[in-house]
Amino acid sequence: MSQPSRSKLAQAILDATGQDAARCYQCGKCTAGCPMAAFMDIAPNQVLRLVQLGTDSASRRLLASAAIWNCLGCLTCARRCPKQLDLAAVMDRLRELACQSGTVPGAQRNVLAFHRAFLASVRSHGRMNELPLVRRYKLSTRDLFSDIKLAPGMFFRGKLPLRPHKIAGRAEIRRIFDACQHGASTGSVEGEAVEPRQPASSPGAGRRRQTRGGRR
Ligand code: SF4
Ligand code: SF4
Repeated sequence: MSQPSRSKLAQAILDATGQDAARCYQCGKCTAGCPMAAFMDIAPNQVLRLVQLGTDSASRRLLASAAIWNCLGCLTCARRCPKQLDLAAVMDRLRELACQSGTVPGAQRNVLAFHRAFLASVRSHGRMNELPLVRRYKLSTRDLFSDIKLAPGMFFRGKLPLRPHKIAGRAEIRRIFDACQHGASTGSVEGEAVEPRQPASSPGAGRRRQTRGGRR
């Protein structure tokens, strides 16, 4: 059986995620069910179409889009797709590529800051803790007071514990983070191969490993 032809970007995403964008036949079921489609500048099925095209301008448009940052990773699209494509994994990889190529749009940098604060909390404590997460996020975005009024209510409901919870296997968690970071290599969507990569800066990498193969 002949292999489908793939753009360099589609091949790089296939290598990194196991998701073959060339299989998408643009039925639109993913977009129809996506809870965030109305907030995306490129609809989910169009994201895959641009990956299929893989031209320089398509790649630039994708990596500078808000859509890849507005994806919740809810997997509704993956459940609906008749070709069993895990679009959330593709979005994860596109976010990684945007970080590597420095094309994260200004308006989306707070999303990236939140991802990083979340992962830093998991790395330190083995799990997410609200107070360290909020502190790191607020300092990195320099937006200290915009939602300060929420803090007392959260505190009195026990949502902002002063002492972070820690799990027993923190050293193991750190080793996982270190292995991801040391295994990371730089890549580009234009002109050269992009190596498989699951950096600790990508909150979707863990979910990608969970969903790939196991869901079907
Ligand atoms: S549901 Fe699947 S096949 Fe249909 S457009 Fe979306 S990704 Fe492509
Ligand atoms: S995983 Fe992302 S693209 Fe898919 S339905 Fe959820 S928000 Fe939409």
